[in-house]
Amino acid sequence: MNKSRTNTEKFTSSKHEKKQTTKGCPFCSNPGAAVSTVTVKHLVKQNIQIISEINNFRICMNPKCDIVYYCRIPEISFVKNQIRVPIWYKLDADPKYACYCSQVTEQQVMDAVRNHGAKTVNDINRITGAMEVSNCIQNNPLGICCHKIIQSCIDKANQNNI
Ligand SMILES: [Zn+2]
Repeated sequence: MNKSRTNTEKFTSSKHEKKQTTKGCPFCSNPGAAVSTVTVKHLVKQNIQIISEINNFRICMNPKCDIVYYCRIPEISFVKNQIRVPIWYKLDADPKYACYCSQVTEQQVMDAVRNHGAKTVNDINRITGAMEVSNCIQNNPLGICCHKIIQSCIDKANQNNI
């Protein structure tokens, strides 16, 4: 395979492919979220050297799409089974982690709200041990703090209670 030739062709033909935006997922074209190279490198199962050299990774936010990480190079993308952890918002994620660092699941958060009176993220942390260890940039697939995910689990549990 002659990769450099393929790349040149990609650039020259890009004018004709306006649908292909650099920010959308190459598979489902949903807009993704920017994610740190540190996160990608840590969560992709294989040790792939080129990952370190890419600084514009994005993560596909479409729950139905198999693609997780992608970048401007179409050959460099990773699907769910190439990632060490289930991506909580993808359809068949099991378990659904709310806090990746301390491996607390969405179910545990909901249980703390329903059965142990938890109302805030701090309550959840106290009851479940969530966020005890905090290294979100390496453990959370989005590379962001688990705080927001825990909050949305609390909201979900409260909505279901009504
Ligand atoms: Zn996608």
